Amino acid sequence: MLRGAAAGVGFLASAGVRGQDGSGRAAVEFPVIISTWPFGKAANLEALKIFDSGGTALDAVERGVMTAEANPAISTVGYGGFPNKAGIVELDAAVFDGSTLDGGAVCALTGFRHPVQIARKVMENSPHLILVGEGANLFAREQGFSGEETLSDGARAAYQKWIKKHPDGQGEPEGHDTLGQVALGSDGSIAAACTTSGMAWKFPGRVGDSPIVGHGLYADNSVGGCVATGIGEEISKVCGSFLVVERMRQGATPDEAIEETLDRIRNRPGQNPAVQAAFVALSSNGSWGAGAIGSNFHYALTRGNQTEVIEVTPQQRKG
Ligand code: ASP
Repeated sequence: MLRGAAAGVGFLASAGVRGQDGSGRAAVEFPVIISTWPFGKAANLEALKIFDSGGTALDAVERGVMTAEANPAISTVGYGGFPNKAGIVELDAAVFDGSTLDGGAVCALTGFRHPVQIARKVMENSPHLILVGEGANLFAREQGFSGEETLSDGARAAYQKWIKKHPDGQGEPEGHDTLGQVALGSDGSIAAACTTSGMAWKFPGRVGDSPIVGHGLYADNSVGGCVATGIGEEISKVCGSFLVVERMRQGATPDEAIEETLDRIRNRPGQNPAVQAAFVALSSNGSWGAGAIGSNFHYALTRGNQTEVIEVTPQQRKG
């Protein structure tokens, strides 16, 4: 079996660092921001700007993931996201604030390009955690959001090609990647956000892990934060992001916590050996981890003012 993992702490000391506490722990430059996939780089750079202008970790992740929601070249998130098998773009997004353990989410939202903004409004302006479908759309309108075209030209063309090949609408869902982001500010606040169009050609109403608290994302200032990408059904079956954070609470490093959680997914009885899942996580001390089942997973990491995209190289599993 394959595994991929990358982790670290130790970045260089510089002005404004935390963590020089005489414990031997490496000094950490803040903020630390980690995102899934190479398109996470633009999200990290935007999140960094938000921190620079005095925003909170929650502001940073919300604005950060909006970069992909606005980009029609990204076929798995926001405007640009591929539709369901009926040709409708249904978007899922969530935010979670590790300072308050509060969050908000929308599922199967239609007609709005920035589901993450609406998810934040669910958290702040409603007594609820999750709104779905027509209810989410109604809430968005009540909050003053205007409807927008969400089917990009590229997504429409791809759908037309697919439906021609599958005129009965029967075909495997394909093409999926979530932008998940976790940010840790210099004040110790941690927030997470996820946004996705789910799986291309999915059954209408299908919801994966991404907008579900504890599955696609979780954060707790006293421990750390985690976000997921991959086959949502499988990530949800192990409550993936919550499990990573809880293992970190019990003393695992982000890398160990992710690896154990990936093992839970791999080892589920009857699991498809081709299952895909990946996590990125930050701990409250500024260390980070990333791991994936399968190849081709990349993540974006920002420490202080330095941002890089890193490939998680599959390796032979130890032991
Ligand atoms: N986890 C997402 C979902 O299942 C898709 C992905 O991140 O690849 O909707």
